[in-house]
Amino acid sequence: MDRISWDQYFMAQSHLLSLRSTCTRLMVGATIVRDKRIIAGGYNGSVSGGVHCIDEGCLVVDGHCVRTVHAEANALLQCAKFGVPTDNADIYVTHFPCLQCCKQIIQSGIKNVYYAEDYHNNEYAITLFKEAGVKTRKVELDYLLVDTNFQKKNEFVYELIHKLESNTDRDEQEITLIKEQAQRLFMKK
Ligand SMILES: [Zn+2]
Ligand SMILES: [Zn+2]
Repeated sequence: MDRISWDQYFMAQSHLLSLRSTCTRLMVGATIVRDKRIIAGGYNGSVSGGVHCIDEGCLVVDGHCVRTVHAEANALLQCAKFGVPTDNADIYVTHFPCLQCCKQIIQSGIKNVYYAEDYHNNEYAITLFKEAGVKTRKVELDYLLVDTNFQKKNEFVYELIHKLESNTDRDEQEITLIKEQAQRLFMKK
């Protein structure tokens, strides 16, 4: 049995949190960790008690949804609300933080930012992180570890594709599209 690493464990937690997001534009999750312990978590959502984008549609101003508090900010504010120090902590986020969150992360004393996916990585945010000595590192979620059936699902999908390919009146173009989609969602084969 393979034991899940701390990085994967915390990153998986952020992905789980992202599923609670109420803004459909981007589902983001963030987990703040100190000494290998989760001290806070947040997701992209409206202020407490407010209406949700998923119910009312986004409130878009200048191309951005202005209704939500970002996942990173929500996690930090949870610490503020309950008086939990964030100095020298780490944060695990599903997406590279935006400029506003970047500044808040630096200002709260967080020293390491682990992110699973690049997301319009802001040049100025990258510079600010560097200047502040905050390290950023990409940690992609390993679905093999968090989805215990992933290997079987992967095999099943490629078995189906193989069946499609051996069909005599197959549509090559359609198969190519299906294969591309499978490679996006599953491992290459
Ligand atoms: Zn929204
Ligand atoms: Zn943000």
